[in-house]
Amino acid sequence: MRNVIIIGSGCAGNTAAIYTARANLGPLVVSGHEPGGQLSLTTLVENYPGFPDGIDGPVLVENMKKQAEKFGAQYLQGTVNQVDFTQRPFQVAVDGEWMETRSVIIASGASARWLGLESEQKLIGHGVSSCATCDGFFYRGKKVIVVGGGDSAMEEAIFLTRFASEVTIVHRRNEFRASRIMLDRAKANPKIRFVTPAVVDEVYDVNQGVVTGVRLRNVHTGETWDHEIDGLFVAIGHIPNTAVFKGQIELDEAGYIVSHGGARTSVEGIFHAGDVQDKVYRQAVTAAGAGCMAAIECERYLESLGD
Ligand code: NAP
Repeated sequence: MRNVIIIGSGCAGNTAAIYTARANLGPLVVSGHEPGGQLSLTTLVENYPGFPDGIDGPVLVENMKKQAEKFGAQYLQGTVNQVDFTQRPFQVAVDGEWMETRSVIIASGASARWLGLESEQKLIGHGVSSCATCDGFFYRGKKVIVVGGGDSAMEEAIFLTRFASEVTIVHRRNEFRASRIMLDRAKANPKIRFVTPAVVDEVYDVNQGVVTGVRLRNVHTGETWDHEIDGLFVAIGHIPNTAVFKGQIELDEAGYIVSHGGARTSVEGIFHAGDVQDKVYRQAVTAAGAGCMAAIECERYLESLGD
């Protein structure tokens, strides 16, 4: 039987692994379907403290893993496809194989929702991004598009005007899901213009390996046209990776884990860390902090069991 199984191997999971491993708990980390999490999809990370010259996202997350392994954490490639948190020890199935554990740290993250274009997928990290806070800095004096009509799209567009010379919000409807205040702020910003009702049909240029523009389509008239840009920010929401926990712990209407204070979930002994619970900050450093919190609470919980 395990002391702790950590579900997810992004910033939150790896940090929880470092802390629980150093506490001699021999954690098992299940890597999940996106090993390394969101960081593995980025290029240069310039806002993670301690790296004055920045560090590549995949390198940062790999270093965290090495650090955890050094203290005895074990990594298992696979996906948790079923859990039973109603009995103790808790039951966790990895690709169909059941394991028993005294505690669980859920750090399965939230995946950015993408448009689903092949060209978009090929250019992620090369001009296509899902995080303006992470990548906005690289677009000083450049032209960008933000796709989406929610608060995230407005917030990202407003943030990007600090750097970009022109920000175009492309949204598939004429009505916006964003709150009035965010929409008004975006509309009042002289650097932001709106193109609606429109969608991105194609991202150029896969052959050059970098974003040079997009093909837009008016969804009412079907008219298409090309628009030159240097960056495409997709802000159409996130999907928390919690399908497997439905009915086992409390989730909100969007599927995020409901926190019961600190890193606690609705079930004692099951903890949350990172974007699987956080729809506000979503930063590598906040996820790492959350992983640390979950590990410390987990350690105290196991101590309280006394066996
Ligand atoms: P959201 O509110 O779900 O909005 C997603 C937007 O993306 C919608 O406008 C949707 O269009 C569009 N969309 C979805 N799939 C698409 C597709 N395949 N192609 C094109 N467009 C697509 O998500 P969010 O903006 O990330 O916000 C999530 C939650 O966080 C919300 O509750 C929001 O209020 C909150 N939030 C708050 C703040 C703030 O207050 N500062 C900042 C960020 C987020 P349709 O409208 O046509 O469906």
